[in-house]
Amino acid sequence: MARRKTRKLSKKEEKAAKKSLDADYKKSPQNIQTSQEKPKAEIIEVPTVLTVREFADKLRAPVTEVIATLIKNGVMATINDQIDFDTMAIIGDELGFEIKSEIKEQKAPEKIAPTKKNLLPRPPVVTVMGHVDHGKTKLLDAIRQTDIISTEAGGITQHIGAYQVMVKTEEQKPKTTKAIERIITFLDTPGHEAFSAMRAHGANITDIVVLVVAANDGVKPQTIEAINHAKVAKVPLVVALNKIDLPDADIQKTKRQLADNDLAPEEWGGKTPIVEVSAKTGKNIKELLETILLVADLAEFKADPGLPASGVVIESHMQSGRGPIATVLVQEGTLRVGEPLIIGQTYGKIRLMENYLGKKVTSAGPSTPVRISGLASRPKFGARFLVVHDEKTARELTRTKTIKRKVLSIGELSQDIKEGNIKELKIVLKADVSGSLEAIANSLKNLADKEVKINIIHQGVGDISESDINMAVGAKALVIGFKVKASPDVMNLVTRENVKISLYEIIYQLLDDLTLALSGLLEPEFFELEIGRLEVLAVFRTAKQEKIIGGKVIAGKIENGAQGKIVRDKETIGEGKIISLEQNKKDTSEVAKDFECGLKIQTPTKILVGDTLEAYKKEERVRKLGE
Ligand code: GDP
Repeated sequence: MARRKTRKLSKKEEKAAKKSLDADYKKSPQNIQTSQEKPKAEIIEVPTVLTVREFADKLRAPVTEVIATLIKNGVMATINDQIDFDTMAIIGDELGFEIKSEIKEQKAPEKIAPTKKNLLPRPPVVTVMGHVDHGKTKLLDAIRQTDIISTEAGGITQHIGAYQVMVKTEEQKPKTTKAIERIITFLDTPGHEAFSAMRAHGANITDIVVLVVAANDGVKPQTIEAINHAKVAKVPLVVALNKIDLPDADIQKTKRQLADNDLAPEEWGGKTPIVEVSAKTGKNIKELLETILLVADLAEFKADPGLPASGVVIESHMQSGRGPIATVLVQEGTLRVGEPLIIGQTYGKIRLMENYLGKKVTSAGPSTPVRISGLASRPKFGARFLVVHDEKTARELTRTKTIKRKVLSIGELSQDIKEGNIKELKIVLKADVSGSLEAIANSLKNLADKEVKINIIHQGVGDISESDINMAVGAKALVIGFKVKASPDVMNLVTRENVKISLYEIIYQLLDDLTLALSGLLEPEFFELEIGRLEVLAVFRTAKQEKIIGGKVIAGKIENGAQGKIVRDKETIGEGKIISLEQNKKDTSEVAKDFECGLKIQTPTKILVGDTLEAYKKEERVRKLGE
C-alpha cells in the first residue's frame, strides 16, 4: 500500500476536498485505487442498496457471475439478498465496472445500517485431542453416556462424526437459580488429524479443544502437538486429566509438565482449566462438561439462525440405495429439508435430514450436526456448504467451479508477505534427535530479521507426518526436516495441498536455503528512477481528476504509464500518473528528448504553462538479509 505524504490543507483546499469527498460518497478505497489503474471502466451508478439480482441487471451481467464473485470475496449472498454500496463497489470493480453512488449532493454521508445480524448464543463445538491411549475414545464414550436424550429415548447414538449432549445445569440469577439444559456439540473423531485437516481446508470449526492427558503417563509428544494445534488455531483449551482412578496416576507431576508447556493450572495462578477425570469410572465428567460451558460463556459463541445455512462437511460416504451422504455441521443459519445447496465442488437439494440419533429432522440450527442426502456427488471432508436460492443456481455455480479451495503455494506465501499480510515465516520443524532439533531451532531464531520474524509453530523429533503437513497448510507454514523422512503418503498430501517442504542432511544447507527464503520475504525497497522531463507548453483540458497537456521533452524520455511530478519554481506541487500519450496525434508508448507530445495525466493538481513534468518509475529492489 502506497504511503502518502501529508501536509496541512489550506481552508480553501479543505473545502474543495470535502466537496469532492461528498461527491465520492461512500467510494471505497479499493475503488479509488482501481479507478486510477483502470480509467476506462464503465461507470455504473447505483443506489445505496440493491438485491443481487437488481445489481446484476444494472451491470447487464449474469446473476451467477455476480454471485460467484461475491462468494469469491467471502460474501455468501443469494439472488434476493440485499448488498450494500461498498460490496457493490468491490464486486463491480472485479467485474470491470466502476461503481458510483447515485446520490451526488449528499450533505453529510448518511450511514448505511449494517445488515443487522440477529445473533443468538449457540452451542460450543468441541474436539478431543491428546496422546494415543490417553483415553480420548473412552472419554467421548463416557460423555456420550451422559446424553439424556439418547438414554431417555433408549436410543443408540450413531457415529456420524459428531454428536451432541444435553447438560443439565443451573442458571445463576440474582437470588434465584433455574435448572436449564444446555447443549455441547462434540466432533467424535478424536485426534488431531481431523482437527488439523479441517483447519487445512480453512474450516475452523472447533470452538474448544479438550486435551486428554493420562495422569499415569504425563505429557507426551502428541500432547505437545495437540497443544500447538490449539495454539495455532487460537482455540481455547480445557485439560481433561484422565485415568485418575489408576494407582500410578501422578496428578501433581502431570500438572507440572503441563505448566512447563504454557498450560499452568488455574489453581497455580495460570489460565488453563484442568479437570481431573476418569473416563473409566465416569468421575467428574459432569464437571468437565460444566467447565466447557464456562469457557463457552466467556467466549460467547454466537450465530444467526435466520440466515440461509452455511457450514462444513465433517464426514461423507456412499450408501447403497441412498447415494452420497454427508454429515455437515451447520455453522450459520438454519438448514431445512428441501433446500438447494452448494457443497464443495458439488451441489444438491436436501432430500432427507437426520440428527445424530438417526432421527429424521426437518431443520437444523447453528452448531448442529446433521446427516443429509440428496447430493449430486460425494463432497470432500472439510468442504464448505451454502444454501442457495434455487437448484439451478447451485448447479451453475458448481459447473463454473467458482468454489475453489484455496491451496497454498510458496508463491502465494511470498505474495502475502509482500502485501504485508504476513510478517513472519512460520515453520514446522522436524529432526532426527532432540539435540539437533534444539540446535536448528536456535539457529533459525537467530536468522530472523527485524522485519521478518521466524515462528516455529511446531517442532518435534521423528519423521514428517500427515499431521505436520496439515498443520503447515492451516498455518501457511513451511515444513523443514533434518535427517528425517516423509513417507509416500505424506508426500502425496504435500503435493495435494501444495505445501513447501524441504528435507536436509546437512545443517548449513538448511540455513543457507532459509536465508534465501527470508531474503525473498523481506519487503522490497522502492526507489524512484527518473526517466525524463517535459516542459509544459499548453494546457488543453483541466478536469477535476485529469489534465490534458502538451509539451516538449527536455530530458530523457516520457513513457505512457509512468508517474509524473509536477514541478513549479523548483518545487513539487503535485503528482499523477500518465494515462495516455500522443505524438503527432497518434497514441504512442514513449516520446524521446526534443520531441513534442500531448498527454493525459491523472492528477487533481492544476497544471500551468511553464511547469515541468518529471516522469519517473517506481523500481523494486529485493534486499537480502543483513543488508
Ligand atoms: P485413545 O487412543 O486416546 O482414544 O485412548 P482410548 O480411549 O482407546 O483408551 C486407551 C486405553 O486406556 C483403553 O484400554 C481404555 O480402556 C483405557 N482408559 C481410558 N480412560 C481410562 C481411565 O480413565 N481409567 C482407566 N483405568 N483406563 C482408561
